[in-house]
Amino acid sequence: MLSTSIIKTLLYRTQIRLASSSSSIDIADFIRGMSSAKKLKSESSTINKPRHVRMKERGRDPGLTSRINLQVISNGYVGTCKSLILSNDQTNYLFNCGEGTQRTLQEKNTIWETKFSKTKHIFVTKKSWDTMGGLLGLCISLKETYLNEITFHAPCDVIDLLKHWKGLEAFPNVTLEQHDYDKAEFKDDCFKINAIALRANNSISNTGNDLSQMKKFPEDLVYAYLCETHPFPGSLSAELCAFHGVPPSELRSRLKNGEDITLPDGRVILSKDVTLPGEPPVKVLILECPSLNYLDSIIKSDLNSHSYHTIVHLAPHSILNNETYRSWMKSIKTTHHLFLDETQKNVHIEAIYRYQTQLNYIDDGIFPLLSYHNSLKEELKLPESVDNITYGLTSTRIPIRPILGPDNSKLVVLQPQNYIDTLLENEEFKQTFTAAKQQLQAMHEIAKTGHSYPEIIFLGTGSACPSKPRNTSGILIHINDTNLFLLDCAEGTVGQIRHFYGDQSDDILSRIHFAYISHMHADHLGGLYGLIQQRRRAFENLGHKYEKLILLCPNKYIDVGEKQWNYFSNKHSFDDDVHVIFNRTLTNGLPSLTNIGGENTNEEKFLFQKFKSIGLHGVQTVLVEHIYDAHALVLRHIDGWSLAFSGDCKQSNDFIQAGQNVDVLIHEATFETGLEVYASQMRHCTMAQAIDVGRRMNAKYTILWHFSQRYAKIPFLSERKDEEDSDKKQTKRPDNVCISFDFMRIHLSDLPRACELVPVFESMFYDEWLNMKKRQTRREQEPDYFAKNTRMIESKRKFMSGRTSPSNSDKTQSTTKNNTSPRQ
Ligand SMILES: [Zn+2]
Ligand SMILES: [Zn+2]
Repeated sequence: MLSTSIIKTLLYRTQIRLASSSSSIDIADFIRGMSSAKKLKSESSTINKPRHVRMKERGRDPGLTSRINLQVISNGYVGTCKSLILSNDQTNYLFNCGEGTQRTLQEKNTIWETKFSKTKHIFVTKKSWDTMGGLLGLCISLKETYLNEITFHAPCDVIDLLKHWKGLEAFPNVTLEQHDYDKAEFKDDCFKINAIALRANNSISNTGNDLSQMKKFPEDLVYAYLCETHPFPGSLSAELCAFHGVPPSELRSRLKNGEDITLPDGRVILSKDVTLPGEPPVKVLILECPSLNYLDSIIKSDLNSHSYHTIVHLAPHSILNNETYRSWMKSIKTTHHLFLDETQKNVHIEAIYRYQTQLNYIDDGIFPLLSYHNSLKEELKLPESVDNITYGLTSTRIPIRPILGPDNSKLVVLQPQNYIDTLLENEEFKQTFTAAKQQLQAMHEIAKTGHSYPEIIFLGTGSACPSKPRNTSGILIHINDTNLFLLDCAEGTVGQIRHFYGDQSDDILSRIHFAYISHMHADHLGGLYGLIQQRRRAFENLGHKYEKLILLCPNKYIDVGEKQWNYFSNKHSFDDDVHVIFNRTLTNGLPSLTNIGGENTNEEKFLFQKFKSIGLHGVQTVLVEHIYDAHALVLRHIDGWSLAFSGDCKQSNDFIQAGQNVDVLIHEATFETGLEVYASQMRHCTMAQAIDVGRRMNAKYTILWHFSQRYAKIPFLSERKDEEDSDKKQTKRPDNVCISFDFMRIHLSDLPRACELVPVFESMFYDEWLNMKKRQTRREQEPDYFAKNTRMIESKRKFMSGRTSPSNSDKTQSTTKNNTSPRQ
């Protein structure tokens, strides 16, 4: 008699191919659950190294993998790109990496069993910012993991693009390679992958699909990727061996290796008799069709000579519904069609909506609901599956091994009432908010009557890498009805604009006439190319004549900008899109209109007048200590308001002087109070130092911004207002300091209330606040904490890996020209 477990295993192995019976899914789920429990256990007993690294270190081959999943990262809805991942136990194969991919990868419903640090291969389907805008950010983050080699697969030279960032020393520890498909297909332990060349009809030298015959990377070249798994051998069953009387000995090893054996009693045991059924090869096609011009090439290709498990269609909504495309689809043999259709509503990062709902409950003036909030909270209804078509959303998964059907069970639906109920379960919050509510409401009523420009929208408030609650640097200032001024533009800034403004986004993009980049770190400028492209598209969509963006930037940006424009765009040059003013030309502020002349070029004179035409009579940059050519900015408006923006920097006396008596100071506060030594080494400020700058500047209000992602939920201001210790005057928080969150909207008249809200924010994240407090107490009780705390030192070492020794930090800026870390 076979034991129940063998029967279950055989059932599992055979029935899963039927895929649709509920009992087989139950068994598969049960087994998956067991294996993930095992995984959790093994992870908890080791440091966070990925499995393949641990196995390599032990000199073991990770071997063939038993699980392969296809997962959608984002489907193109609201500022996301169309991106997906194939993953097995050891490796992620990422397909397309537009802006924000890295942030969405952090969503637990997206990654499921994948791990960010397993991303060893990045496949790009076409040369465009939509598919490549997040590459720099992702590669910088991957260098912080144990991964030391990334292989690109693309119809264009990816390394050439990344080389543009060489000045940022982005990849000191990572080897970047690109697989050459015109020489060979790609093969590893898990897949055999072929790139199928697709060309546009109107391409001048259409040489069909033969990669070796065509000029290397013609501009219209697009790759479809045909991924085929290796057959997976069945495993030796201990129970079947016992059933046939094979003792646990080297005989079993021989059977496992496929050898047939003879037992001492003369019986011959065939290997196949004691081996469970294996898995056949499975084919998955990732198919990009950017426009109808590619239909011919797709139809003429030999793509329909294969039979697939899944075809993923990366194409605009109009093509997915095109008759010719649909009839070609019907001619091809596949079990599933997976559509990434940008019109399908989708919550790609739930945390964005969760925190905004909770903050909106606290103050609906400063934290308005995001534009698509109401439509997303309705139950998401996917179009019915006809002709095996599944619409892929951020949580969609199709298991490839074991073979199962598409799974949308983890679809995220917004639950605003749940988010608020959770908030109200927090006793600390309830008490603090109830005590302050009446006063806050009264302040809100007064503030409403005083609303006028400027209106400040925080789009990104974290430093370095984006987290779920905080994107990286970006602040939008409404100067008046028709002119917006953008301060810094990290990767994902356009996505944040689309979340906030929804259908008005094009209108907003076309009104951003001024942008300022404080310094050459990726977390301050990684989204600028995307913003300018989307801005141009907005002008076209609205039928407006294009107006160049006036860009204040470091000198070095011009090299990066020009190369980036040349790389992606055939139509418009960098000069077609932007007017550039170098930050250093404004260190003495704008010349008075009568004095414009002398050293200034005609273009500069024209631009200075532009500032004055929107009422900005003071636009002054200040050289600050952070990296080479880093500047702070002070804006003064003819209506009487003024604003100072630090960018990233150490405390700066020059900035304090330039910003005297401003209405609002937005200052970086990367680290918590008490980490001054650390902050100084990284050329940043702590919260207390930022507050001190505001005090010495005599700023009416200080908004803290640019928090290390260790404070992603709530920055640690060292002590709560009700616990202030009079002995610690230097850390006492004044009443005119508030903290920023993504999607916070501030008018000057809102600032008194925003400062009163700080204790409410702290109570909202009370557990996080308590943990930070405990860490601070431990640090204070341990005078040589920094020397002892190896994690801190290790983390510092990683951050500094792009720099020379910390002892150089005291030298002047000119010596730190190449002394940069790519982010922060
Ligand atoms: Zn930064
Ligand atoms: Zn920086």
